[in-house]
Amino acid sequence: MKALVYHSPGNKAWEEKPKPLIKESTDAIVKILKTTICGTDLHIMKGDVPTVTDGRIIGHEGVGIIDEAGSAVSNFKKGDHVLISCITSCGKCEYCKKAMYSHCEKGGWILGNLIDGTQAEYVRIPFADNSLYHIPANANEEALVMLSDILPTAFECGVLNGNVKPGDTVAIVGAGPIGLAALITAQFYAPAEIIMIDINDNRLQVAKTFGATQTINSGNENVIEKIMGFTESKGVDVAIEAVGVPETFELCEKIISSGGHIANVGVHGKSVTLHLETLWSKNVTITTRLVDTATTPTLLKMVTSKKIDPTKLITHHFKLNDIVNAYDTFQNAAKEKSLKVILTND
Ligand SMILES: [Zn+2]
Ligand SMILES: [Zn+2]
Repeated sequence: MKALVYHSPGNKAWEEKPKPLIKESTDAIVKILKTTICGTDLHIMKGDVPTVTDGRIIGHEGVGIIDEAGSAVSNFKKGDHVLISCITSCGKCEYCKKAMYSHCEKGGWILGNLIDGTQAEYVRIPFADNSLYHIPANANEEALVMLSDILPTAFECGVLNGNVKPGDTVAIVGAGPIGLAALITAQFYAPAEIIMIDINDNRLQVAKTFGATQTINSGNENVIEKIMGFTESKGVDVAIEAVGVPETFELCEKIISSGGHIANVGVHGKSVTLHLETLWSKNVTITTRLVDTATTPTLLKMVTSKKIDPTKLITHHFKLNDIVNAYDTFQNAAKEKSLKVILTND
């Protein structure tokens, strides 16, 4: 089969690899139908994720068809259409029993990281019973690709950890795919205002069509002044950090109101200054989390019942064997106006 393989920083190739085989009786082999590229994959390609080594097939999102199910797999059989979760879960360890699947002792985020991933014609999924979801007949499978990672990540790490409530003023820092997915899922809780902050005017424009009530371009506007203007100088009830650099996290510390929640979603590679000299008395809650995908069944219902439409996040389509071009388009997001790309294996 063909797959996208990481070799070294800046060096990837679409090349021939052996088709994966069942290793454990709890595994399933899935033929990929559709997959996508994640911001995390760009970090991997730069060499920022040292657990990914030469020869690894990248990718942790997608939908497909069961090609072969191991003898201990009871939930799925050959021919079933499945949604692949970015998080692998054994279902039995202490963390899995607490629904903290991201920290599963035998799984967690291993796909396209510690084991071969989904940017391939076939992928081996360990603990298939707990790590795959049935796709209902007639569901929009492209929409469901957004449920492998970005929707549960934005919803769990941003909206649920941020404790978004009816009437709240929410600021989302970063209008990339994750920030926009937080914008979509925050609306489950009817906040009064959702303010999107980014440096890209196109993404801010898109955010307005997704339900943002205000947008601020932090490249040429004074964010703190504007937010204080919108909130009678109180600041926001919830600040969701969806970028992952020190400046954007520190911005959340400056715009949070007393009693507010700062929910970190971004992947940080550098230390951030915690301004306790201003925050110590403000009753602020700061949360961090790796997505557990515990809300995937809920989100699946919200998509199939058309309460939300994640296809709005998809801007480009490619054939799977054209994935190297798809990486270029995804990487040049400002120029290409790209959000999520869909790669189809046919
Ligand atoms: Zn991802
Ligand atoms: Zn586990």
